Formats: sequence, structure tokens, C-alpha cells
Amino acid sequence: MKKLALLGSTGSIGTQTVEVAREKNIPITALAAYSNIKLLEEQIREFNPKLVAVVDEDAGKELKIKVSDTDTKVLIGENAVTEVAESSDADILLNSLMGRCGIRPTVAAIRSGKDIAMANKEPLVAAGDIILDEVKRAGVKLLPVDSEHSAIFQCLDGEHNSPEFIKRLIITASGGPFFGMSRAQLEKVTLADALKHPTWSMGAKITVDSATLMNKGLEIIEAVRLFGVPAHKIDVTVHRQSIVHSMVEFVDSSILAQMGNPNMKHCIAFALTYPERQPSLCTPLDFTKAFSLTFDTPDEDTFTLLPLAKKAVTLGGNAPAVMNSANEEAVALFLKEKIRFTDIFTLVEQAVNTVPHRDVVTLDNLEEDDLLAREAVASLINN
Ligand code: MG
Repeated sequence: MKKLALLGSTGSIGTQTVEVAREKNIPITALAAYSNIKLLEEQIREFNPKLVAVVDEDAGKELKIKVSDTDTKVLIGENAVTEVAESSDADILLNSLMGRCGIRPTVAAIRSGKDIAMANKEPLVAAGDIILDEVKRAGVKLLPVDSEHSAIFQCLDGEHNSPEFIKRLIITASGGPFFGMSRAQLEKVTLADALKHPTWSMGAKITVDSATLMNKGLEIIEAVRLFGVPAHKIDVTVHRQSIVHSMVEFVDSSILAQMGNPNMKHCIAFALTYPERQPSLCTPLDFTKAFSLTFDTPDEDTFTLLPLAKKAVTLGGNAPAVMNSANEEAVALFLKEKIRFTDIFTLVEQAVNTVPHRDVVTLDNLEEDDLLAREAVASLINN
């Protein structure tokens, strides 16, 4: 059985990954989380990992004392996650960190020869070229956990479904809680409205991204990176039931879809046990009962972050990274109820136009551009 390092173990995907590991007896040899040491302590006592990273200093010190009777070594601080990603003896690392903070740990894990199960889409968006180069150099596997990309990966996972036969990728979107609303209606929505996702239960940041459709924009970029298909060959269809998780159209116009009830544990288990398929506890679709599947076009005039994402990835260079950083900053402000929902759209768009373009992205200039994008958002709300 492959040994697992799990980054972001106390979040939504993290806790579901722990359930999958428990169900399938997958050993967890390293864990990382931000500050939820109560849950982290439970996970340490159940799985006995050799290494644990806690980002928050005070929480880390407290945990160190609490688990001093175990064999687990606790590392503390910003760099601890990268240290754990690099030095853990795991075979595969599942990254379910939130946002671009997952970039350096991902690169460190790849360089140390671990396969990557990627649930953290922002590193692929912001640092896609860097990560793909590192994957190629290290000869490790990069397995998608995001449901849409897991679906496309599954549709392409056969010797006769090679990428050269792809005509289009069709990514499904639930449409989020505000599907069908006009910009004027969106002006009045609240944080609580935005956090009510119709079909998926997820963390707060990604739930807001689903409501703005930025999540779908990020997923287009993620698909460009993972499958080497340009943005103009990727369509988004609004599929309210979240049963078809995405599709691939081949050059002969045949379309393959991957379907199932919405359950992230399927995607997590698929990545962790790949190339095997193992029995799961997920409830299958029941075709003895009638149900309907619908497909609709997204409203790109209202949900403008979707076309912005396509533009950013086509432009390349630092554009996706800047868009992502501005979005992280704007969503954080919205989650603190400092700005309105529709401000996210305008702040991200304006920040993208403010930060100077550069063609080649490095780990260092990514940090500079991240600061510039966040400063641009901050100065826009202060004016
Ligand atoms: Mg997704």
C-alpha cells in the first residue's frame, strides 16, 4: 500500500481524505494543517504519522506538548509544510491546501520523487508551467482530484483515448447558488447566500468561487495545464444536478462522460489507488428511478470572471497568477464582509489590469506579483 502525506488534513477535502484512508487502510506518514490542532491531535493518535506541520506558531507549540507522548515530530511555521512535503517518506502527497500557499510544498514534494494527488487548484493556475516542468524532470505522476479533472482524466485513461484524439473538453458547472440571476440581483446577495452551494459541500473559499464562477475559470486553466488543451477548445456547460462530472469530445464527435452522484471521496480514492479501481461506499446512481439531466449555457456577461480566466490563460505568463492572487484577496475580504459580492468581479478585473505583465514566471517573481495583486485590490477598496 502506498504511504500518504496529506497537506490540509483538517479542511473539507482533508477530512474526506482521512475517511478514505481509514476505509482503505492507507497509511498516513505525514500531515499538515494551519491551526486546527484539536482535529490534528485526533488524526495523529489514529494514524501515527512520523511528521506533522502546523503553520500557526502558537497552535504548533501547543500541539507539540499535547502529543509529546507519541513518536510524531511536530514542525512549526510557514516553511514547515514545505519541509514536511519534502522530507516525508510518503510515496504520494495529496495536496488539499487552500490557495496559492500550496505552490512551494508541491514543488518540494515533486523534487523528492513523490506522486502528487492535486486537490489544490491554485498552484496549477498560478505556477502551472513550473509544476509541469518539475513533474517531467522528476518522472512522477500528477493525478487530479478536482471532480471535473478526475472525470476528464478517467475519460482519457485508456490506450485508445489518447490526447491526440481530443477535439474539445466539456467541463460541467453546477452554476452555483446564483444561476440565472442578473448583475442587479447579484448586487444584493449576502455572504450567507453565497455559502449555500446547491450540490457540493466544500470549504468557504471554493464555495464563494463557485458562486462567482471563478472556480470554473480556475478549472479551465487547470484543464489547460493538466491536459495540454488550449482554452478555446474547452467549453463550460451548466449542469445543475452535478451528475455528469465532465466530458471529452473526440475528433470523431464521440463524447465520453464520467458520471456518478456528487461525492469527492470517489475522486480522492481514484487518485490514491490509481491505476486500480477499488470498491467504494459511495452511493451509485439508481437507474431504476427516473431522473433528468439538464445542460445550459453559462451567462458570461454577468459572471465575467469566467471569460477573464480564459483571457488570462491565453495571455499566459503571470496573468493567471495575478488573477488568482487578486481573487484570493477579494474573496478573503468578502468572507470578512468587508466588500459586496459583486465587488469581487470588479476588484479582480481591475487588479489584473493594474499589475504589469511578464512572460516568464519563476517561484520568486510569483511572490512579487502576488504582493502587487493584493496591494492593487487593497488600494482599489481604499479609494
Ligand atoms: Mg471542481
